[in-house]
Amino acid sequence: MRLAPGRGGGTVKSDDYVRCRALGHAWYDVEAERAPSFGYAMEFRCERCGTVRRDLVNRYGELLPGGRNYRHPDGYRDAERIERAEYRRRLLTRMTGYRGGAGRATRTLRAVGE
Ligand SMILES: [Zn+2]
Repeated sequence: MRLAPGRGGGTVKSDDYVRCRALGHAWYDVEAERAPSFGYAMEFRCERCGTVRRDLVNRYGELLPGGRNYRHPDGYRDAERIERAEYRRRLLTRMTGYRGGAGRATRTLRAVGE
């Protein structure tokens, strides 16, 4: 079984969150850990980083005021200090091996898309 990043006392590096910070989380629905005192709880967990999103909604599916909360793994808050563009650049590097130069990046992206 693979533990979520940050569990077990390890420090998570910002690189562990490249795809989540560049693309957004990869949510799947899970059973709510506890019943809410009001409304209905919907919980989702990111399959990559282990972040949990908890939405409290009414019977019509409308989000209650202040009804969205996130529980991030250790180290994620540090990762949020880095701009999304930097994570997209890191992902681009992983996908293409691109290391620098705007013109070359454009050509590389076109080559990937063709
Ligand atoms: Zn994530």
